[in-house]
Amino acid sequence: MSDTTTKNTTQSAPHFPEQVTGMYILARALKNLGVTDVYGLVGIPITEAAYIIQGQGIRFVGFRHEQQAGMAAATHGYVSGKPGVLMTVSSLGFLNGLTATANATVNCYPMVQISGSSVREPIDLEQGTYEGLDQLNIAKPLVKAAYRVNRAEDIPTGVVRAFRAAMSGRPGGVYLDITTPALGQVMDHAAAEALLNTPVDLQPAMLPAPEAVERAVNLLANARKPAILLGKGAAFARVEDLVKELVERTGVPYYPMSMAKGILPDNHPLSALSVRSTIMEQADVVMLVGARLNWLLSRGHGKWNPAGKFIQLDIDPTEIDCNRHIDAPVIGDLRSSLEAILAKLPAKMGMDPQWVPGIQAESKAKNAKFLERLAPQTVPMTHWSALSAAKKVLEANPDVILVNEGANTLDDCRDTIDMSLPRHRIDCATWAIMGMGMGSAIGAAVATGKSVVAIEGDSAFGFSGMDFSTICRFKLPVTVCVFNNGGIYNGIGKPLDNTTDPAPTTLDINARYDKLGDAFGAKTYLVTTPAEFEAALSEAVASKAPALIDVQLAADSGKESGHIGYLNPTPLMDITV
Ligand code: ADP
Ligand code: MG
Repeated sequence: MSDTTTKNTTQSAPHFPEQVTGMYILARALKNLGVTDVYGLVGIPITEAAYIIQGQGIRFVGFRHEQQAGMAAATHGYVSGKPGVLMTVSSLGFLNGLTATANATVNCYPMVQISGSSVREPIDLEQGTYEGLDQLNIAKPLVKAAYRVNRAEDIPTGVVRAFRAAMSGRPGGVYLDITTPALGQVMDHAAAEALLNTPVDLQPAMLPAPEAVERAVNLLANARKPAILLGKGAAFARVEDLVKELVERTGVPYYPMSMAKGILPDNHPLSALSVRSTIMEQADVVMLVGARLNWLLSRGHGKWNPAGKFIQLDIDPTEIDCNRHIDAPVIGDLRSSLEAILAKLPAKMGMDPQWVPGIQAESKAKNAKFLERLAPQTVPMTHWSALSAAKKVLEANPDVILVNEGANTLDDCRDTIDMSLPRHRIDCATWAIMGMGMGSAIGAAVATGKSVVAIEGDSAFGFSGMDFSTICRFKLPVTVCVFNNGGIYNGIGKPLDNTTDPAPTTLDINARYDKLGDAFGAKTYLVTTPAEFEAALSEAVASKAPALIDVQLAADSGKESGHIGYLNPTPLMDITV
């Protein structure tokens, strides 16, 4: 160590309190940034760091699988606005966690994955060392930013840089690699404390250009059939007050993307939730507020009115024009952009007087038709009869956060359960992945202190089920409902003639998921009718304690992957003939 800045350091065991290790500096750096919770799974080389973090009064939520700890950190970032922190061990632990960090990046959730890594020199020469993996370079293409710290005295800088990268501009997942020698390096305590600075303005406002605002306002104010499309970026940006003002002052109908449900209550008179096709086909101006024109919106083509014009409010300039020409981009943080737009809105809009009444009449008819699906209290339960029960309980408890994943369980639940508060619906989001359930439920409960209900397909639950034990260990107010139809999509997949193995889509229709809860001391229920489900879910939510409900469905309830068959282009028929 020839660098003069390391003159206060040694590699021998620290004599506390005069001396501290890199792990202590890490804990202090996190504390200094106001971190209250860290999610992770310990082992070499971070075990002691987790104890020291607890010693700083930070909660360490220990998981059974790093991927779920990462999903928790990502959800923590989304619901709290501050980066969630994931801590992983080297090699496989790092890779398991990286799945969630990559997913956070795609979803624009701020999180920081901090991983211990093995000694650099034998990794770089590929000489074979304990858990030797070039973690920094593996992480780089999958995250918003990646940094490595090689010396204890650089840990505070690394942590601040990681937080700034995760929170500023478009949020995302950031990877911070800290080598084992840096974690174990001993420093003079006073010198270590002197390294801590409180960073200023980690999430700076980004003001839109006045001419961009004017262009957008002109387009919106003169539109005949305008619509506003809300995305989870607007939920993350906590602009529900401004969105309400925009919608109510202009009288323009809005359509919320899945996780944007609840920014305004789903039963708002200007909600166009049930008439998405009409919006796509007929709107002449669409204002995107924190939503991307990605595959979830047919990338701006398909059903969209080809002559329609788009206004897009986003923080990331490279998002503009990525799929379709954007007529009025407004680049800035949503609070600044919406404030600027509201300041310029004219008193009178050029809207066709028939537009909103038409949308409202169509919505009313569609909503009535939809409710017919929920009416039959079918037993054995279908997704619809089970959801009719969940709807009653969740709409009576609007402050419960809903976590939702599965195939039919996702699609049908999203359509059935009205949300009335922002950031209360968390699902598989942009990649439509499975395996976010237990982690997201834990992150939501820890970050907010609120009760959580996770509505999970039986397949989806399988990815993260073991971390139900984490819910129990931390006594979190989380109720997990497993919709058991015995398979992926459904439980009636037929194996091909040449095998006696189960079909690839088949799981276990007779599985007793509730018994998993018994193993960890949760309150458990097996329900077979909508009335039983309603009673169990009400009781579980009221208990504010861990609960697991096996919701027994019919094996033939559910069909292959919702409405996106074109993504799975080989029809099963072609294989079987
Ligand atoms: P959805 O899936 O709900 O449509 P997306 O995740 O596709 O939402 O889009 C969210 C968008 O919001 C992203 O393009 C992101 O850059 C943007 N965004 C996130 N936070 C902010 C913010 N504070 N201000 C402006 N735009 C933001
Ligand atoms: Mg299933």
